[in-house]
Amino acid sequence: MFEKNKRTELSELGEFGLIDHLTAGLPNFQPTTIKGVGDDCAVIDAGDKYLLLTTDLMAEGIHFDLVYTPLKHLGYKAAVSNFSDIYAMNGTPRQMVVSIAVSNKYSVEALEEIYAGMRLACEKYQVDLVGGDTSSSVSGMFLSISVIGDVAKEAIVYRRGASENELICVSGDLGAAYAGLLLLQREKEAFMANPQAQPDFGTYDYLLQRQLKPEARKDIIQMLYDIHIVPKCMIDISDGLASELLHLCTQSNTGCQVFEEKIPIDPVTITLANDFKISPVTFAMNGGEDYELLFTISQADYEKLKDIRDISMIGFMTDAAAGNHLVTTDRQMIPIEAQGWNHMKK
Ligand code: ADP
Ligand code: MG
Repeated sequence: MFEKNKRTELSELGEFGLIDHLTAGLPNFQPTTIKGVGDDCAVIDAGDKYLLLTTDLMAEGIHFDLVYTPLKHLGYKAAVSNFSDIYAMNGTPRQMVVSIAVSNKYSVEALEEIYAGMRLACEKYQVDLVGGDTSSSVSGMFLSISVIGDVAKEAIVYRRGASENELICVSGDLGAAYAGLLLLQREKEAFMANPQAQPDFGTYDYLLQRQLKPEARKDIIQMLYDIHIVPKCMIDISDGLASELLHLCTQSNTGCQVFEEKIPIDPVTITLANDFKISPVTFAMNGGEDYELLFTISQADYEKLKDIRDISMIGFMTDAAAGNHLVTTDRQMIPIEAQGWNHMKK
């Protein structure tokens, strides 16, 4: 693909292009490897069930800014974002390992705070912290967590399982975590300009909580189980609705139509979006870190889900040739493009 001796910048590929490039054609030597790169978790045959394996790396300055991220929250979020990937396969997280590299600007007390956050997440989600690795770093902190979970074989849900006409559902509300990030960045700038300034978070507590202390939707997985629905495809929303819809559609070989007025956005998110003069739907489509679940169900299951609080039906799958579109409130069809956290692209 690339000429020898030519230097290719990471920015030419972007994050997803880079992953595809590096992992293209990887062979699996083990018959127990059921699914490798390309879903929320790798899937491993463990006899009577599937094991699920996922990992996430958080880098200081890229994924978090210590000026406004409490360390306890950081530990909590790092764990929960991994649990979310296990739920996205319809599974249950069981154990995790933690690797951490820190520069000497951190104290023992600072690391205790991170572990307090991870312990809290482990207790809430009933996951055991069973190991890890510790190193120093020249600058800043790197925190990597890997989680193992499992799922009954007949209950596993991949990104690739959708078909035409299925209903697209999303849990909770979208865009609030990104709104919280903008709010924190705005207050940081005000503080830099005038260190006496007191942060003005007004009535935006919800947005801060969504950004700093997100939850994974264990409750939704339980609810779907209770009402006997196995989604056809599923992904968690870490990079924004647009990017995740495209992952589902690409892998399922479908298109989609999503209706702007159906996308769940909290009134507080709308207020902040108005403050920033940005359309709230942009927060939902292109923000990130909501950790909600995006999935499809067959139309036959509509009745079972239609009155469930916290689930919104936002559109349907189409055939691939129809493309991926957002239908705006004034009935324009806008092609959906991923502009999520593709942080390697310029
Ligand atoms: P998620 O947002 O669900 O955590 P990612 O977008 O990080 O998923 O990753 C997409 C897929 O690419 C996953 O299957 C992941 O395991 C895989 N992946 C990501 N980075 C690498 C890498 N450096 N090498 C191999 N596989 C990777
Ligand atoms: Mg995911």
